[in-house]
Amino acid sequence: MARREIFAGNWKMYKTHQEALDLAQGIRAWTTTGIGNREVIIFPPAPYAKAVAELCRGSRIDVGMQNMHFEQEGAFTGEVSPPMVRDCGCRYVLIGHSERRHVFGETDDDVNKKVIAAFKSDIEPVVCVGELLEEREKGLTNEVLRRQVEKAFTGIGAGRMKKVIIAYEPVWAIGTGKVATPETAEEAHGYIRKVVKNLYAADTADSLPILYGGSVKPDNIAGLFCMANIDGVLVGGASLKVDSFLEIIRVK
Ligand code: PEP
Repeated sequence: MARREIFAGNWKMYKTHQEALDLAQGIRAWTTTGIGNREVIIFPPAPYAKAVAELCRGSRIDVGMQNMHFEQEGAFTGEVSPPMVRDCGCRYVLIGHSERRHVFGETDDDVNKKVIAAFKSDIEPVVCVGELLEEREKGLTNEVLRRQVEKAFTGIGAGRMKKVIIAYEPVWAIGTGKVATPETAEEAHGYIRKVVKNLYAADTADSLPILYGGSVKPDNIAGLFCMANIDGVLVGGASLKVDSFLEIIRVK
């Protein structure tokens, strides 16, 4: 089955307002042609999301928020609600990024609440899963991935699952320069697809876009993207420059 091909950039906590606009403008200018059906999503820092979404309107680029709270509103100082994400013009939200899980202590339960909240506000979730190095070394990778996937989508029906994107991001590969080999990533992607197939139906699993994330660069994208179960990438560091992000998006 032909699946969506998605190239996403997570800008994390980088860029000033003007730098964010310049980066978005540069990506917009170079993705008008030559990318076939590939979809491009950028996740700017929250304060710039609205301006970047406005700049990208009518282009090939969609915008997402890097995180949000699961409550609709309330006394949650410093947080961003799902309706605010929509108000900013974001189609997507990143949920359960490893930095949220391991730096800010986000749990599988939080991830599930955020997935449910995203759908309530008509936002499409990009859900990150991935094992720690010690979990991989102990042979626990599949167990961790299964738990994270099962928990993330508890209560989510097959119809909604068709709007989900999963990003496999082994924690040991994020921002470390240690990219997973294409074979290692492919094995994990195949396993995630199997877990989704067991939870839903074969067609749901077959059409699910699964992105790889973790030290993706122009010089390693080709080996990853040619794997059968890798439908695109979620890029951190290399998405902060127009040239390197474009080289990745335009991989043959
Ligand atoms: C990320 O932030 O999701 C990521 C994969 O970062 P990097 O590409 O820098 O490893």
